[in-house]
Amino acid sequence: MGVAQAMSPDLIDGFGRTIRYLRISVTDRCDLRCRYCMAEKMTFLPRNRLLALEEIAIIAERFIGLGVRKIRLSGGEPLVRRDVIELTRRLGGHVGDTLDELTMTTNGTRLAEHAEALFDAGMRRVNVSLDSLDPVNFRYITRHGDLTQVLGGITAAKTAGLAVKINMVALKDLNEAEIAPMLDWCVAEGHDLTLIETMPMGAIDEDRTDRFVPLTAVFERLGDQFDLQRDVAGTGGPARYWRVDESATRLGLISPLTVNFCDGCNRVRLTTEGKLYSCLGHDDQVDLKMALREGGVAALDDAIRLAIAGKPARHDFRIERGSAPAVARHMSVTGG
Ligand code: SAM
Ligand code: SF4
Repeated sequence: MGVAQAMSPDLIDGFGRTIRYLRISVTDRCDLRCRYCMAEKMTFLPRNRLLALEEIAIIAERFIGLGVRKIRLSGGEPLVRRDVIELTRRLGGHVGDTLDELTMTTNGTRLAEHAEALFDAGMRRVNVSLDSLDPVNFRYITRHGDLTQVLGGITAAKTAGLAVKINMVALKDLNEAEIAPMLDWCVAEGHDLTLIETMPMGAIDEDRTDRFVPLTAVFERLGDQFDLQRDVAGTGGPARYWRVDESATRLGLISPLTVNFCDGCNRVRLTTEGKLYSCLGHDDQVDLKMALREGGVAALDDAIRLAIAGKPARHDFRIERGSAPAVARHMSVTGG
C-alpha cells in the first residue's frame, strides 16, 4: 500500500480548523534578490541539511493521507532545484484522486523551460511573482531580474495550458503607481492578480515600514477605476477575491497587516530543511526530518499531529518603524 493510501482521520487544530493545504519550500535558494524578501548577500543552507526529494515526497504523501487536498511548491525559487520536476511528477500522480490540486509559486525566470513539464505532471495553475511591468523598475526591485525572461515564462505557461495568477507585493514609492496598470494588463491577458502586503519576515537591507502600503487604501482607489464585485467562492486561504469589470480576472488581496485572515486558515508549511511551521507568523516548529529519519512514518504522523495541535490562533505581524521582523526567518525559508 502506498504511503498516501493509509487513510487516517483529518488534521484538526485546537481551534477547530481542518488542515487541507500544505506549502512546501523545496529550496531556500533563489536566482533573484527581491528587496522586500531577501538581503543582497544571503547565506543559504548547506545542501546536506536539505530534505532529499524522496523525503519531501514521503512527507507530502503522509499529509495527503491525513486529508490534505492541495499542495503548493514554493521556495526560494522552486525551479532552481534540479529535481523539482521529478517531485512534481510524483505528487502530480495523486491529482484527481487523493489530491485536488498541485500548484507552484515561481518568479518565472525558468518557467519557459519547465512549463510543459509542469503541465504534463498534472499541474494546472501557477502563481508568478511580477512586481512591475517596467523593465528598469523590475530589475531594481528584484536586483537581478530580466522582465523579458519572466514575461516569456508567463507566455510559455499559458501556451502549455497553465492558468496564471500574478502575485504583486505592493511597495510604496516603488510600484504603487503600477497597481492599476497591472490590473489592466491582467484583465487583457486573462490572468488573476493577487496583491500582497509586505510582511515583516527576515532581515533585509532596508526598513520595511518605508515600503508598507495598506491594501485597504489601494482597494478604495481601484474601486474608482474598476467595477469590483466580491467573489465569495474563496479558496480557504488568506486572500479575499473580487471579479474585475465582469471579466474572467479575479483580484485577490492578501492583507495580513490590515485585515486578519487567521480564523479560516487551513494551511501549514514545510521548510526545505524539513521543519513544519503551522503558522507563517510564528517561530514554533516541529522537525519532521528528524522524526522521519529516527522513527519512520509512524513517528512522522505523531510529529505532524503535534505540530497541528500547537497551531497558533493568529499571526503577530505588525509593521512598526525600527522594529525587528516579527519572525527571523525569511519568507523564502517557509515558502510564501
Ligand atoms: N521565488 C518564488 C516567487 O517569488 O514567486 C516563490 C517564493 S516567494 C517567497 C513567494 C511569494 O512571497 C512571492 O509572491 C513574493 O513576492 C512573496 N514575498 C516574499 N517576501 C515577502 C514579504 N516579506 N512580504 C510579503 N510577500 C513576500
Ligand atoms: Fe526570490 Fe521569490 Fe524572494 Fe524574489 S520573492 S527573492 S524571487 S524567493
